[in-house]
Amino acid sequence: MALIVQKYGGTSVANMERIANVARKVIRTKEEGNSVVVVLSAMSGETDRLIQLARQAADVPDLREYDALISTGEQVTITLLAIMLNGMGHKAKSFLGFQVPVSTDQAFSKARILSVEKDAILKELDEGRIVVVAGFQGKDADNNITTLGRGGSDTSAVALAAALNADVCDIYTDVDGVYTTDPNVCAKARRLDQITYDEMLEMARAGAKVLQPRSVELAKKYNVPVYVKSSFSDEGGTLVTKETKGMEKEIVSGVTYDRDQAKITVIHVPDRPGIAAAIFAPLAENNIMVDMIIQNSSIHGFTDLTFTVSRKEAREATRIIADAVREVGAEKFEVDENVAKVSVIGNGMISHAGVAAKIFQTLFREQINIQMISTSEIKVSCVVELKYTELAVMALHDAFGLESAR
Ligand code: ADP
Ligand code: ASP
Ligand code: MG
Repeated sequence: MALIVQKYGGTSVANMERIANVARKVIRTKEEGNSVVVVLSAMSGETDRLIQLARQAADVPDLREYDALISTGEQVTITLLAIMLNGMGHKAKSFLGFQVPVSTDQAFSKARILSVEKDAILKELDEGRIVVVAGFQGKDADNNITTLGRGGSDTSAVALAAALNADVCDIYTDVDGVYTTDPNVCAKARRLDQITYDEMLEMARAGAKVLQPRSVELAKKYNVPVYVKSSFSDEGGTLVTKETKGMEKEIVSGVTYDRDQAKITVIHVPDRPGIAAAIFAPLAENNIMVDMIIQNSSIHGFTDLTFTVSRKEAREATRIIADAVREVGAEKFEVDENVAKVSVIGNGMISHAGVAAKIFQTLFREQINIQMISTSEIKVSCVVELKYTELAVMALHDAFGLESAR
């Protein structure tokens, strides 16, 4: 008998019919002799709706109340599924984050899981129940409700699988696996049978929202086998796993894009020690993640500094930067939300020259201007104008021959 964690995303629980479909899949897994822990998202669109309501209530919503509000979508789906399962003659019990409990730090709306208590869930499983847990939420040390950032149910599922020492964590979604690029953007995208934790992590961090990055970090750390599967078909699936031999051949494994980007340029900054610290330390103190950073070479003792943040955090970032700009004596700053990041990812890049050059040539051929570049051992990212996102993705996917089978 195996212990299986199954996570179903928003489109998989979008209405009563789809929740009934989830119930049937859960029952099938249970009847095959497994213990089942189900993690659910809110119905698709619901978290967005709640966020809009919070913004209507106040320009800058109180963070504690904001998290308590936007976590409610999951309470609806887990209780509906548990009611349905019980009605179908299968004992089931729902758990909100604090009832598990899933303990997090205090960073409202992007909290990190610190620990997951397993005893209450194991007791229910021992008694033959199906356990249905609300994804996306936890509680901090003061019992405030916290949420884990958009797409956080993936992380809830993997954290539960790690804590319970589950045999597998199945992530059911609206596509039948991880593709070479978003199959909803590029029709030529090819499903991968397997992908390494490291490649998946880079793809997720670069914006492939099929898995939240933190879920992949946890899966790698605790060695949790993760299967990405379709809620609507038994075909396909992608295993996210450690290195396997056959995969070394691939130089490039995927292309991703991230439209959740804003570019901030601080202009005419005095070029002296401590300036970067003065600009970036307050952002870090306010928990704002800075992604790419470029500093131009200095002319007559002045330079420009450009960096990117999540578009969702651009407003807060500019508020903080305005103070820093005054403090360091820079001339001004500009914010550009009309940008996206396009990335090419592959384990084989470490040992193959020319990948970056090919990316630049490809974008040049399409007359797409590159505004920023960053590279890691297995990733090259370029910031481009927002309207070129899809064109860049398709051109790069073609250039690296990703549509042809491994
Ligand atoms: P869920 O609501 O089930 O969590 P998400 O919308 O968060 O689903 O993630 C699934 C979506 O991720 C897909 O519909 C697809 O558009 C997108 N996606 C982006 N990149 C990829 C990729 N490389 N492979 C598969 N899906 C991807
Ligand atoms: N419902 C949350 C969101 O929309 C969490 C998730 O779907 O994973 O971000
Ligand atoms: Mg998701």
